[in-house]
Order: sequence, then structure tokens, then C-alpha cells
Amino acid sequence: MLWDLDTDAFTFSVSSEDKAFTKRGVLSVVNSLYDPLGLTAPITIKGKALLRELSSEINDWDEPLSFEREVEWIKWKESLKLLEDVHVPRCIIQSSLSLTKKKELCIFSDASTFAIGAVAYIRVVNEEGNYQVVLVGKSKLAPKPAHTIPRLELCAAVLAVELYEYIKDEIDLEIDTVRFFTDSKIVLGYINNTTRRFYVYVSNRVNRIRQSTRPEQWCYVATKQNPADLASRSIAAHELQDSMWFTGPEFLSRQELLEVNNYDLVQPEADSEVRPVVTTMLTKTSNVDLGAHRFERFSNWKGLLNAVGKLLQIAKSFKKIPGKPGKGTWKCSHTSCGVDEFSQARITVLRSIQQDAYKEELDCIKRGRALLKGSSLRRLNPQVDKHGLLRVGGRLSDADLTQEEKHPVIVPPGHVSTIIIRHYHESVAHQGRHITEGAIRAAGFWVVGGKRRTCNVIKVCVTCKKLRGKEEYQLMADLPADRVTCEPPFTSVGVDVFGPWQVLARRTRGASANNKRWAVIFSCMYTRAVHLEVIESLSASSFINALRRFFAIRGPARVLRSDRGTNFIAETRELRKHLLEKGCVWLFNPPHSSHMGGSWERMIGIARKILNAMLLQSKHTRLTHEILCTFLAEVMAIMNARPLVPVSCDPDQPTVLTPAMLLTQKWTLPVLLLGTSIPYTT
Ligand SMILES: [Zn+2]
Ligand SMILES: [Zn+2]
Repeated sequence: MLWDLDTDAFTFSVSSEDKAFTKRGVLSVVNSLYDPLGLTAPITIKGKALLRELSSEINDWDEPLSFEREVEWIKWKESLKLLEDVHVPRCIIQSSLSLTKKKELCIFSDASTFAIGAVAYIRVVNEEGNYQVVLVGKSKLAPKPAHTIPRLELCAAVLAVELYEYIKDEIDLEIDTVRFFTDSKIVLGYINNTTRRFYVYVSNRVNRIRQSTRPEQWCYVATKQNPADLASRSIAAHELQDSMWFTGPEFLSRQELLEVNNYDLVQPEADSEVRPVVTTMLTKTSNVDLGAHRFERFSNWKGLLNAVGKLLQIAKSFKKIPGKPGKGTWKCSHTSCGVDEFSQARITVLRSIQQDAYKEELDCIKRGRALLKGSSLRRLNPQVDKHGLLRVGGRLSDADLTQEEKHPVIVPPGHVSTIIIRHYHESVAHQGRHITEGAIRAAGFWVVGGKRRTCNVIKVCVTCKKLRGKEEYQLMADLPADRVTCEPPFTSVGVDVFGPWQVLARRTRGASANNKRWAVIFSCMYTRAVHLEVIESLSASSFINALRRFFAIRGPARVLRSDRGTNFIAETRELRKHLLEKGCVWLFNPPHSSHMGGSWERMIGIARKILNAMLLQSKHTRLTHEILCTFLAEVMAIMNARPLVPVSCDPDQPTVLTPAMLLTQKWTLPVLLLGTSIPYTT
């Protein structure tokens, strides 16, 4: 850099000494150009770039470099000679300082993937017009690995800010305004942003920019009019003198600069530098009331009173710490609430829900005014007691009764009224609406809409459903195959034992006879005929005897069914095996499923009824084994003579179908001597 005293301008000279084309030589030439103001930045950046490329390729300082590089290198070195023709006037402001109206600093910045650059001009406005002079330029290689263009543009903006601070410290002139220009709307958006947050890289640089500049100072300039573009791209030396690098862009010479407008973030949702929006909320409550909505967490009245009573205990134990407003100590005792605390809690809860529901009414009464026309409490003539509770007025004020009786507390509709109703409904052992309502009133509550609400509570009460529910009927399954298969009588047989009956035992010398008798019922599954046999004990041997008699009279059966009675299961294994050889299976119902033996249990019921009637008629006769046998035979006859289908009203078919008809092929009933005076015993 030289100072030409004749023209009072800066010029440059490049040493013509030839250096070897090695890394050392290149470094020497690049650094031989002394240019503290960065006036030749668009040229020198090219040399710096070349040096960086060489450094990454070759490590040795004195190794000769490749031929292709040498061509490029010589071309650049030759072009440096043209810098000797460059003349930059040293004097910034040629006219008299007193005549200048305004001195403005304009700093441009730009970036490319190759380098970032910034250049500052001073713009002077005086009476004759205005002009601008280049002040300082600066360029830096873009960092490797490559950044995104918006990040590089942001770095260039930071470079411009640094340049501004440098000028501000060094220049002796008073600058009126400072403006920054960039051709990146994204960067302008970052700088002007007040709504979103950025990740660290952008955030740090935006903070740096906003430390020393204001967003209003930043303007947009088209890339073609941006002189910093030259520094970031590098140009040939012969183009430099005629470019806008020294003269500044043409629009600066105009009288007034464009108005600055606001720049918003460019597509903040798609920008990876912008942090996603996080919404945070602040809840502030100023209500000192307990808030009736909290009571909805309780499902019973006692629990609610207990909890509020506990809170009151804690509130009483609260002691302020002097000097610390809003802070204090409290303790929670483990003793349950006393009577006082319960009644205090009751008042607190009721007052709280009344405050919520009847705010206007309470206001009116406190001010001594009549209730509003539309108020639902108008009919009740309400009054406020010493605890601030709304009570029903009525005409019994002078009566010799307790206050609860004279003036019940008004309970507004809502959750608390529901749990009060439920509490008193349970306390009267789930009685109906009438009794529940009575209990509520006796406890001193006037529940608004009480009848309907009580009905609703009872309607959903599970215990009441259990107590008063309609009886449900089981949907019956299909009949078993035995019942619907056409077979001879007593082919499929249900077996069971019933009884016992007390009989008059004959006294035998030396041993006392068993005086209980049972009956075995054999019920045909198809014809519904029955056969009864008397047995003397519940033992297996008695049963086997009965079975043998049955088989002897009615013929062999194919299927026997029974429950798992002990006399059927125990000691009959041999018998079952024997029966199986004769082609008869014995099936047992599953345990505890008496419903599966319904067809013969029903027959037992009929047999008992008939027998009971017989025993009643013959009450003067003492029951002996013989008479019981006779009775059971007659019971069997009556049962087998019962109609199987409804008795017909058709005159063409006057007969009834009975099991006896199927068994005996006879139409008439057997001759029974029931109710006659013919004695059974002598
Ligand atoms: Zn109930
Ligand atoms: Zn009768």
C-alpha cells in the first residue's frame, strides 16, 4: 500500500520478486500485500482461498505444487500487478465539513459458500447533493465444513457489526446515522424477531448483532446492488476499478433512502434454526372461597364432613412466622374430628355451596331488599342465620322448637345434595322416597327439588335394586335327548330317594327296629310315568333291593340317571359294572347341579303333596311300614293317572292321555279305596 502524495490517494504495489511455487512461496506472496483497510478484499480473498486449498492438499512447506494449480496461481499473481493502477482517494470528505448536512455510515454484508464479506461506506449529504466514499472492507473465507447459506449470511451480518464497532472506535468524524444492508430476508427476519426462540448458533449471533445495533437500522438490498457481494465472490483485478466496490451502489447517491419496513421470520415452521413453540400457562387464583367444585371429589357426606373438619383443625393450628408474610407452621393431629368440628364443617360446606348457587339471593337479603322475581327461592321466604346460612322462613319463628326444625337449611341442587340424600337414604335402611325424605327433613335440610332428586338417587341405588328388583328367569336349555326319544316305558329312568317318614316299629325282642322309611322314585323320562319303592335305610344294599324289585316289575332299563347321592355312589361300583354288562348305563349328574334332575325332582314334589294329603286324611291311623307301602302305591297310581296334556275341550276327543294309559293300555283309573271307611289296619 502506497500513498501517492501528488494525487493524495492510496495505491498498491506488488513485489515482482519470483517466489518458488511451494506452499511457503504462496504464503509469502499472499501476505506480501499490505492492505489494512481491506480495500482490495475482493482480490485478496482469492489468494487466501488458494492457500487454504493447497494447505489441505499438501503438508510439506517446500514441496513443488501441481501443474494445474500453478496455472491458476500465476494467473492470479499476474492480475495483482493491475492493482498498481488502482487509486483510492485518501480524503474521505472533500467538501468543507461545515457545509455537510449529514454524514451516514452504510455497511453492506453478504455471503456465498466461498466467503463472507462486508464493506462500509460513508455517505455525505450536503447542499450540492450527496456522494459516498468507500471506507473499510473485509472478507473472510467461509468456514469448512460448509454451513447453510442463512447461517453464512448471519455470520456476514456479524462481520458487518464488528466492522462498524471498529470504525466507530477509529474514526474522528461524528456520524449521524448508521445503516446496515443485507440481501438475506431470513437474516432480517432473525434480527427483527420478537416472538420465537432460536437454537444456540443463531441465538448467539443474533444477540451479538442486537448488542450494538437496533433492528430498525437493518435494511434489505438486492444482491445486484450489494457491493459486499464482490467481496464474497471475488472478482478479477482489472474489473475492480470500474466496479461499484469503490463507488458504492448507485442507489446511495439518491436523495433519500428507502423507508425501513418490518421483516418477519421467513417460514419459521420450516426453519431448523427456530425452536418449536412451547406454550406455558400461568394460573392465578384470587378466590378465597373453598370452592364447591372440590366437594365433587367426595362420594359420601360423612367423608366430606370429615375432610373439611380436618382442614379446619389444620387451619386452627396454623401459626404465622413473624417477618415472613404468607408463611407459617401447622400440624395435623391424628385424632378424629369432634362434634364441634363436624358441625363447623357442616356449616362451612353448606355455606360454600349456597354462596355458589344463591349469590344474588344472599346479596339481596344482606341488603334488606326483596328477592328478584325470577328467583327460585322466592316462595321459601328465605332468611340468613348467624352463620350466614340460608334457611327457609316459614311462620314458626316463635314456636318452641329447635332452629333445625323451624327453619331447615336450604340445600341447592348439585353434588352435595345428592350425597346428603344418599346418606339419609342409607341411614333409614334403603327405604323408599317417603321415608328418606322424612329423614332428610328431620336432619334439618330443605333440599331444593327434593322429591325428584330423592327418586333419582333411589333409582340408581344398587342395594335397592337388589332388594326390590324383579325376579329374573333363566332361559331354559334344550330338553335332553332322553326326554324326546321315542322309547318303551321305563327305558330311560331318573332315580332319586326322598323321605323319610316315621313309622310305628314293631317291638322285637332283643333289638329295636329302624323306624324311618324312605322312598325311591323311578321316573320314566319319556312317558313321565313313575314307580315308587319303599326302602328301610339310606344304605346301598337297601337301594339295590329296591332296584331289583323295580327291574323285576317294570322290565330292564337302558339308562339310569341320578344325582351323586352317597347311597348311589358308594358300594355300587360292582352293581354298575354288572348293569353295564346287561346293557344299562348309570349316568350321574355333575356335582351341585340339582337343576339337571329337574324332571324327577318335580315328580318328588307331586308325590309329597299327594302323600301329605293322604296322611292328613288318615291322621287317626298310626303309620306303619305296611300302610306306607300301600299309600305310596296309591300315590304312584294317582301320579300315573295325571293328564300329560291339557284336558281337551273337544267333544270328539273326551279322553285324557295319562302315563297309566301308556303303561297298562287301560282307559279307566285304578280302583282306589281312598277316603272310604275301610280300615287299613285292625
Ligand atoms: Zn337404596
Ligand atoms: Zn282338597
